[in-house]
Amino acid sequence: MFVARRSFLTIGGGLAGAVLLRVPAEASEPSSSPVPSTPDTPYMPDIPDMPEMPPMLEELEPPAALVVEDVPPAPESARPPIPRPPRIYLRNEWEARPPTSRAVVLDRVPDKLIVHHTATPNRGETSLEAAFRLSRAIQRYHMRHNGWDDIGEQFTISRGGHVMEGRNHTMRAIRRWRHVVGAQTAEHNRHTLGIETEGTYMDDLPPQRAMDALTRLLTWLCWHYELEPSVAIIGHRDLNATSCPGDRLYQHLPALREEVARRLDRGYGAHYSRGYRLAVPHWGPLPGPAHWHDHGPALGPHEGIR
Ligand SMILES: [Zn+2]
Repeated sequence: MFVARRSFLTIGGGLAGAVLLRVPAEASEPSSSPVPSTPDTPYMPDIPDMPEMPPMLEELEPPAALVVEDVPPAPESARPPIPRPPRIYLRNEWEARPPTSRAVVLDRVPDKLIVHHTATPNRGETSLEAAFRLSRAIQRYHMRHNGWDDIGEQFTISRGGHVMEGRNHTMRAIRRWRHVVGAQTAEHNRHTLGIETEGTYMDDLPPQRAMDALTRLLTWLCWHYELEPSVAIIGHRDLNATSCPGDRLYQHLPALREEVARRLDRGYGAHYSRGYRLAVPHWGPLPGPAHWHDHGPALGPHEGIR
């Protein structure tokens, strides 16, 4: 159960000589910190302790009617190598605006990783600056148009394969084996983590660089949170009536789960114990995007967050 915590600390310490980022307090965003190194540089942000916030730290009852599939833990010597996380650009790097209130952090881990598309054009621009502009545009839309406190998703992946932190406190929560509540899958935000992949994938898959980044991010998150890829990686349409993440990307999810499992196992049997299977609902015809950024219901009326 606590292997990932120990291993996480190990990788942090092991990379002490590599690129480490100091994350300023949210109040100081945006900052002009330089963008370090290359997109492939492995790194673990050196994040100062999170301030106390007892009113927002809540325990959540496990979802009802689950089929829990426990698998006995593997012996320490048989565990596969630690997967390298992708380079994750933090909020100060893409110059996020400060949230209107601090994110809710739950003392639990997410049990589902939700793949989304952003319902924006499949553009050819792949630069880092284009990726940062995308995150700023999504945040602007979520705060101004939707009236939310911050950007909704926990991660955004650009067409160029750049990975950006989304909602404030996402990386700090992950490092502490907690869950920051986003606004990305209605009525399920308290137990799911959302990854928005730039584009609209009804007919096409994301570009290879974006697929690579998505696979690496999912692999790292499954390893860190001890999630079983075959049941943890799902599409937005598995939980809400929406075509997100697009027919084509949704059809590709079984192959994506298989690839993540392959990277985690390295010839060793599955030992990631956290997981339950969803009974996939029958929604009927699924609505597609009505406009940019419309990837489906992202926030339920009774979730108590914005
Ligand atoms: Zn979605």
